[in-house]
Amino acid sequence: MQTVESIIIGGGPCGLSAAIEQKRKGIETLVIEKGNVVNAIYNYPTHQTFFSSSDKLSIGDIPFIVEDSKPHRNQALVYYREVVKHHQLRINAFEEVLTVKKINNRFTITTTKDVYQCRFLTVATGYYGHHNTLEVEGAELSKVKHYFKEAHPYFDQNVVIIGGKNSAVDAALELEKAGANVTVLYRGEAYPQAIKPWILPNFESLVRNEKINMHFNAEVIKINENSIEYKQDDQIFEIPNDYVFAMIGYHPDYDFLESIGIEINTNEFGTAPVHNKETYETNVENCYIAGVIAAGNDANTIFIENGKYHGGIITQSILTKKQTPLES
Ligand SMILES: Cc1cc2nc3c(=O)[nH]c(=O)nc-3n(C[C@H](O)[C@H](O)[C@H](O)COP(=O)(O)OP(=O)(O)OC[C@H]3O[C@@H](n4cnc5c(N)ncnc54)[C@H](O)[C@@H]3O)c2cc1C
Repeated sequence: MQTVESIIIGGGPCGLSAAIEQKRKGIETLVIEKGNVVNAIYNYPTHQTFFSSSDKLSIGDIPFIVEDSKPHRNQALVYYREVVKHHQLRINAFEEVLTVKKINNRFTITTTKDVYQCRFLTVATGYYGHHNTLEVEGAELSKVKHYFKEAHPYFDQNVVIIGGKNSAVDAALELEKAGANVTVLYRGEAYPQAIKPWILPNFESLVRNEKINMHFNAEVIKINENSIEYKQDDQIFEIPNDYVFAMIGYHPDYDFLESIGIEINTNEFGTAPVHNKETYETNVENCYIAGVIAAGNDANTIFIENGKYHGGIITQSILTKKQTPLES
């Protein structure tokens, strides 16, 4: 059993930023990451371009300078590796946190490799590991994917993309370029506001030129081995289909959060972990949440751009609490 003052679960940009802030203030901090550093970014589509400019993605006062207006995935991987090296963060990579139990004001954390005890815990586990699932017959077929990596395998294949947001449009553009027959089925009646304005003209031009089939108000009702059925304006259509990319979003691992004792609140604004908006402390004393996880199902409100500031706020709260000695 190892004892550390503070543990951060998750080595994404927001977990790393929290680790930097804590280290700067003299808090002994360990990051435990189930994969590699910035695992979610590593798992983005290979050729992904960020919608944020590089300065907005920078953490720990290390400038992120790239020639283009928006950085690419690979540039971000290099950048975050350098940040970790510069700040000499203590990170245990490829170690998954399995359970967290709180006994006598201390958290006991069991991972795939060891057991730790800490007084302060920050959960920064993101959402990318848990995709939303379609509730239709055939959703479990192996041809239905939730992560798009590269377009090449889908050359000359009938591909349906479900969704109409950035990830769907990005995938459609790459797949069309690689020679896939692309159909996009979107429940909305028009392109959502959140679409990156610099990719929409290209996409719309491909739709106008019938290189991509775009259907609004289209709801998938069944996925078969070789076709897909959808409903549009009260009519049912069936089109040939080899692969489906269901780009319908992701959500935090609520079971894991609840196993720690963190309450999950559902109201008219959506579903999210209960936390103090001023400190990011959850209903479990000394347990904080950082990064996109704080947004719950509404992941479009917290990104790296703003989630990177949670660490500083949490650190201030920890410093205040540290003035009170821990009773054993
Ligand atoms: C394609 C794409 C493009 C995007 N572009 C942008 C952009 O341009 N600008 C922007 O600001 N945001 C962008 N985002 C959103 C951004 O990626 C997320 O907001 C960001 O990754 C959140 O950081 P985080 O540290 O909160 O979580 P994550 O980056 O998801 O990190 C969470 C980490 O926790 C680890 N973890 C999970 N469970 C455990 C466990 N039990 N034990 C140990 N480790 C665990 C995961 O492996 C992961 O590394 C984009 C997202 C996608 C999918």
